[in-house]
Amino acid sequence: MKKVFIIFFLFMIIIMATGCCSNSLSRKEYTIATGSKSGVYYPIGEVLDKILKEQCPDVTIKVYETDGSVDNLQMLAEGKVDMALVQNDIAYYACNGEAMFKDNKISNISGIATLFPEIIQFIVRRECGINNLKDLEGKKIAIGGKNSGTRYNVEQILGEIGILDKVTCINIDAKDAMEKMKTKDIDGFVFTSGLPNPSIVELSKTVDINLVPIDLELIQKLVNKYSFYFPSIIPPGQYSGQTTELNGLEINAILVSGPTLTENDQYLLTKYLFSKPNELGQAHPRLSKMTKATLRQQMPIKLGEGAHRAHSEANKQ
Ligand code: GLU
Repeated sequence: MKKVFIIFFLFMIIIMATGCCSNSLSRKEYTIATGSKSGVYYPIGEVLDKILKEQCPDVTIKVYETDGSVDNLQMLAEGKVDMALVQNDIAYYACNGEAMFKDNKISNISGIATLFPEIIQFIVRRECGINNLKDLEGKKIAIGGKNSGTRYNVEQILGEIGILDKVTCINIDAKDAMEKMKTKDIDGFVFTSGLPNPSIVELSKTVDINLVPIDLELIQKLVNKYSFYFPSIIPPGQYSGQTTELNGLEINAILVSGPTLTENDQYLLTKYLFSKPNELGQAHPRLSKMTKATLRQQMPIKLGEGAHRAHSEANKQ
């Protein structure tokens, strides 16, 4: 009898030490890096917390406001957060040690799911007479915080048309940029974000704005040069005063995790959050187009083993 008890006791210690294959999450709190409160990442972080709580009422996902994708990937790699919402282009650069990550390649992160497309939105004050991207020459434009993903999209796009050094670019986040739009301190701002972005919807009620289209030739060039960009058609009526359909560019927002999340916790979180994408879609309009198939599309970095296990099980159901 005593022997059986000792074996059981040792078995429990091993299970607790490895966290292996437990049916419950190993912690009561997880953290996620998102973006500016005026963006879409932040409220999506809150939605993920809410969805998880429906199944595990005593577990919390604490949401951090950040500069955006570059900041989030750095925080993740340093173990400051367990998960992060990031642009798939920036995640690729991080894991391959390219572009802004050329001196600090990140190798300890893995993908959980692809969530929704983000449009590179060039928003300008209507009175500034900016009808296409070339008109940004000589203007003052906010391009996102220094460690946002937006900033790099702007640099690639304006670089491609040769006007990057002819635009006064300032590094502030979308929230501050919208304040400066009201006081006419800037002519416009850029935000790679879900469409419509609720804060820009609000801004368009008090400031006359235009969403600047990207011409098809430039879209084609950028799509050919950078594998993450996709052409996107922006339906009319996203923002007050936008009456026509516009051409634009999009990338994808993905959820990734870092070294602080065990494989089993990644499996359970993926299972709790994503096994019913339709239900998750009801919690936020940006998530409404997700299906079991889209969750693994355009994931440019290694899909985590726990996430892979959860997606495979969901697909069999
Ligand atoms: N894609 C943005 C970035 O990483 C954040 C977008 C958002 O919060 O809606 O810079």
